[in-house]
Amino acid sequence: MNADLHCHSLLSDGTLEPEALAARAKANGVELWALTDHDELVGLGRARAAAHAAGLPYLTGTEISVSFAGTTVHVVGLGVDADDAVLATGLAATRGGREPRAREMGEALARAGIPGAYEGALKFVGNPELISRTHFARFLVESRVCSDTQEVFRRYLVEGKPGFVPHRWARLGDAVSWITAAGGIAVIAHPARYKLTPTEDFALFSEFKAHGGRGVEVVTGAHNAADALRYADTAREFGLLASRGSDFHSPEESRIDLGRLPRLPAGLTPVWEALEARVHAPA
Ligand code: AMP
Ligand code: MN
Ligand code: MN
Ligand code: MN
Repeated sequence: MNADLHCHSLLSDGTLEPEALAARAKANGVELWALTDHDELVGLGRARAAAHAAGLPYLTGTEISVSFAGTTVHVVGLGVDADDAVLATGLAATRGGREPRAREMGEALARAGIPGAYEGALKFVGNPELISRTHFARFLVESRVCSDTQEVFRRYLVEGKPGFVPHRWARLGDAVSWITAAGGIAVIAHPARYKLTPTEDFALFSEFKAHGGRGVEVVTGAHNAADALRYADTAREFGLLASRGSDFHSPEESRIDLGRLPRLPAGLTPVWEALEARVHAPA
């Protein structure tokens, strides 16, 4: 099945409205779709209505920012109850740190010779509670400091670079509990991106499992073929369900479009088999 269970709208750091994403997913042959905006559920009503109108089976979703082993790890929640109060409260607390962090990023970039970045980033923000590094990256491209967002991250926005501000996100166990309490399945997003040592990687999956986490993204826009095989092994070793998602953000910026992903490697249980009861079927 062409499932694409990870993407972003303008309500976090994507550039398209939920309606445009649903239409694009359908046009690209997606057969099961989820919108997973960072730390936020606000777009899910629109996503569900648009999926319904497009004749596209749909799952609720979100992607929670977590601090683990001195880095940031993302945990996708699929099939959550979008009205769950525990999840909503946890996400609100996670989002709450973004505004002060963004102001600090603006000050840090000003010290590095780039004034006005906070105000500049705000012009790209579609949800005032969800200002992200991506919005700063778009401003630095617009103001020709860099030629694309990848270059902005490399030169300014990752650890050790002048615009990076360390931040404490949610705890792994909390993020998994919020998702599980809301009836969803917690999935480790794009694990190859974290560049963890084998020991840290093992610790991440062990802790995640112990907290009730059940899935891992094996095929994602950030993984090459070797990464997919590596995390297929992790899925088997830890008894995790396998997920597949493009992490599409924008037609201009994203390398992989909605629905244009390789298949899951053989011998895995797809996460959607465990989510059948949570799928919103189209009319
Ligand atoms: P934030 O949640 O504000 O820390 O921003 C994280 C977002 O920045 C991720 O969800 C990606 O969309 C984007 N991002 C992170 N690293 C990179 C990178 N190296 N190149 C392009 N985008 C990135
Ligand atoms: Mn993002
Ligand atoms: Mn992510
Ligand atoms: Mn994402």
